[in-house]
Amino acid sequence: MGAKNMGREKETGSLQVRHRAKPGGCTCEGDRESTDEVYTQKWVVTPRMVYAQPKALVPSRKDVLVLTPWLAPIIWEGTFNIDILNEQFRLQNSTIGLTVFAIKKYVVFVKLFLETAEQHFMVGHKVTYYVFTDRPADVPQVPLGTGRKLVVLTVRNYTRWQDVSMHRMEMISQFSERRFLHEVDYLVCADVDMKFRDHVGVEILSALFGTLHPGFYSSSREAFTYERRPQSQAYIPWDEGDFYYMGAFFGGSVVEVHRLTKACHEAMVKDKANGIEAVWHDESHLNKYLLYHKPTKVLSPEYMWDQKLLGWPSIMKKLRYVAVPKNHQAIRN
Ligand code: UDP
Ligand code: MN
Repeated sequence: MGAKNMGREKETGSLQVRHRAKPGGCTCEGDRESTDEVYTQKWVVTPRMVYAQPKALVPSRKDVLVLTPWLAPIIWEGTFNIDILNEQFRLQNSTIGLTVFAIKKYVVFVKLFLETAEQHFMVGHKVTYYVFTDRPADVPQVPLGTGRKLVVLTVRNYTRWQDVSMHRMEMISQFSERRFLHEVDYLVCADVDMKFRDHVGVEILSALFGTLHPGFYSSSREAFTYERRPQSQAYIPWDEGDFYYMGAFFGGSVVEVHRLTKACHEAMVKDKANGIEAVWHDESHLNKYLLYHKPTKVLSPEYMWDQKLLGWPSIMKKLRYVAVPKNHQAIRN
C-alpha cells in the first residue's frame, strides 16, 4: 500500500499484492499464478453514495447486447455508473499504463494523442504514458496533469509497416517483464493515429479486454476477416468466432496483457518460420487469442470509431476514441 492510500486502508480491505511492492524484486514467471489470484479477489468497500437506483426490470439498453454469453459486460454508454467505478478504482489506487507506438513518421500523431488523452483518458487516476519510438527527440512536450507522467521508450524500427505493427506484441511483452509489472496495475494498448474525443475511463478496466471493430460489430462470423488458412497460427474456422476485435485497442491487467502479447508474438514467430503472415497481422493473432481466452470485458465501438468512414449511427451515444484521417501511403513510407 502506498502512502496515498493510508487514510483509507481500513475501507479498502484490498487483497491486492503488486509485484512492485514485493521485497527482493520480482521473479515474474514464478509469481504469475499467485498474482492472478489476488487480481481477481481484489475488493473494496464502497462508501455511502447517492445515485439513481438500478432497476431489475428495466434494461440499461434495449438496442444492443450488453453481456456476452460468458457473462462479460459489453461496455456501452448507459450501462455503467462512472461515479461508482471511479470510487472503486480510486480506493484501489489503480495505476494505468497507456502504451502507444510512434515509429518513424507516426511520431507526428503523438501530440494530439496525448493532448486529447489528458482531456478524456482516465481523468482523476494515475496514468503513465509509454511512448515507444525510434525518434525520441521528436516526441513533443505535452503538459500533463498531476499523477500523470510520460515515459519515452527508445526501440528499433522495421522497414515494413506490417512488421512495425506486429512487433508491438513483442515489445509490449518484453517491457511488461522489465517494467510494467513493477510500475502499473493495468495496461491499455492503443494505436497512435487516433484521438480521444469523449470519456474513456476505468469502466474499460478488467483482467482482459478487447474492443469491437467498428467495421464488423453487426456482421455475422463468416464475414469476419479472421485468418482462414489452417497453416497460420492465427487460423479460425468458419464455424467459430464471437466477435471481430480491433488490434488498435486492447488491454487488461499487466499479467494478462503479458500473456496475450507473448502468445501473439510467439505465434507470429512460428508463422514466419513457416513462411506465412496472417492476413491482418497482429490483429489476426489477437482475434485468435481472444477466441480461446475469453475477455472479461468487451468494449463497444464507442471506443474505436472512424467517423469519416462510418458516420455517426444513433446507437453510438458517444464517440470516445476515433481515427485521425491519414494518408496511408505517405505516412507509412
Ligand atoms: N506504427 C508506427 N509506425 C509505422 C507504422 C505503424 O508507429 O510506420 C504503429 C502506430 O502506432 C500505428 C500502429 O502501428 O497506429 C498500427 O498501424 P496503422 O495505424 O497504420 O494501422 P491501421 O490502423 O491503419 O490499420
Ligand atoms: Mn491505426
